Amino acid sequence: MDGLLSKENREWRERVRALAEKAVRPVAARYDRAQEYPWEIQKALAKEGIFKVWIPEEYGGAGGERILNLCIVVEELSRACGGVGVLFAVNALGSFPIILGGTGAQKEKWLPKLAAGETLIAYCLSEKGSGSDAASMRCRARRDGNEYVIDGEKKWTTNGQAANLYTVFAVTDPKSKSRRISGILVEKGTPGFTFSKIEDKMGIRCVPVVESHFRNCRVPADHVLGGLEGYGFRHAMATLDIARPGVAAQAVGLAQGALEWALVYTSRRKQFGQRIIDFQAVQHMLADMATKVEAARQLVYAAARAADRGLDNLTRLSAMCKLYATDVAMEVTTNAVQLFGGYGYMRDYPIEKYMRDAKITQIYEGTNQVQRLVISRNLMKEATLLAELLDPYLPKETQYVLDEGPTPPEAAAAFSVPAVSVPAIKTLYQ
Ligand SMILES: Cc1cc2nc3c(=O)[nH]c(=O)nc-3n(C[C@H](O)[C@H](O)[C@H](O)COP(=O)(O)OP(=O)(O)OC[C@H]3O[C@@H](n4cnc5c(N)ncnc54)[C@H](O)[C@@H]3O)c2cc1C
Repeated sequence: MDGLLSKENREWRERVRALAEKAVRPVAARYDRAQEYPWEIQKALAKEGIFKVWIPEEYGGAGGERILNLCIVVEELSRACGGVGVLFAVNALGSFPIILGGTGAQKEKWLPKLAAGETLIAYCLSEKGSGSDAASMRCRARRDGNEYVIDGEKKWTTNGQAANLYTVFAVTDPKSKSRRISGILVEKGTPGFTFSKIEDKMGIRCVPVVESHFRNCRVPADHVLGGLEGYGFRHAMATLDIARPGVAAQAVGLAQGALEWALVYTSRRKQFGQRIIDFQAVQHMLADMATKVEAARQLVYAAARAADRGLDNLTRLSAMCKLYATDVAMEVTTNAVQLFGGYGYMRDYPIEKYMRDAKITQIYEGTNQVQRLVISRNLMKEATLLAELLDPYLPKETQYVLDEGPTPPEAAAAFSVPAVSVPAIKTLYQ
């Protein structure tokens, strides 16, 4: 469906597809096994100018449809390796708070380096005790003169020690309900900022996920995002709205990649004297897989366009595309393994990695249960607005119950009883 995309979108796709085939696919399995950060790939992406894609033009970025192009880039990288897809996309996640809420000076200082791929960034929101309920975080930061002092821990820091800048969310005003949390930029090497446990993961194994620790960690006060305390949670949530299409794009890329492998394998594998793709049951599986991948892709692109245009319905669309595309990725990659039969279960073959890589997309940046929560909250608001329009067309049901007191005349007529009978029938619901 590339014909529906602009020339600019298609150029991004072509550039990244060529790079992924040359620099990512051939080494994906090796880095997955070694659980090692693929610096050669990061350097190739930086050299090719791919890190510019989501950064505004005035800060050294590419401009244009930044979120849609980001999704296309992440999709293409993930088609070759889901780990590389997130290794790249997490830099967008970490830098969106600066783009959305940073001061002019913060943008000027950090964004050009991020666009050049010289600075890598991580997003530190989750903690051991606060994942879905991110607002219940415990990490604290207190002002001390011209500095903030951070104490606490963060869990699941993707980009681990590979990054040199960290967007850390911490409680600055524990008493406040709406302005409790602030975003603070912390540079690697700041005294009191250390890492521990490198997670041994099911998938996306080439990108490090670590625990981060802050002990009496002092950062300059002008590292608080936007120069103002108390806006961190808003920045964190607004970031997720524009970042979730990126996770969904990772899912689409994984599903597309798995589908392609399934097409090739089923066209080559023979059983009962014929290619397994010639069995109608297999063809129908492939048809369902391809249909769902395309539906997911179009929903992701719609959400990305909504982000690029700053549309009001972004939160809902973004949650919908993350939910749908990641569920499709899990289903399609699992079915692709099925189509490989026993070989699909073996690490010698490329397909099981797609299934392992796909699982995380249903969990991070808000689990799919949380996405359903976001969507249904939105629907409930819509229900209130729609009631005025649609209520007049709903037939009104009336239920009568036995009760003390005079019977309303219409109830007496309905039940053929005298209007003054006791116990009487009263309207319970209208
Ligand atoms: C590999 C990996 C990388 C990650 N990278 C980052 C990162 O870079 N930065 C970062 O900040 N975080 C990161 N995370 C954290 C990730 O975002 C959280 O794991 C995720 O939000 C879920 O939080 P949790 O693990 O604490 O699960 P919990 O919140 O404890 O949820 C457990 C289960 O309960 C369900 N649940 C919870 N609340 C509700 C509810 N209200 N209604 C229905 N069901 C509910 C969940 O859906 C889930 O199934 C990463 C996680 C992983 C595994």
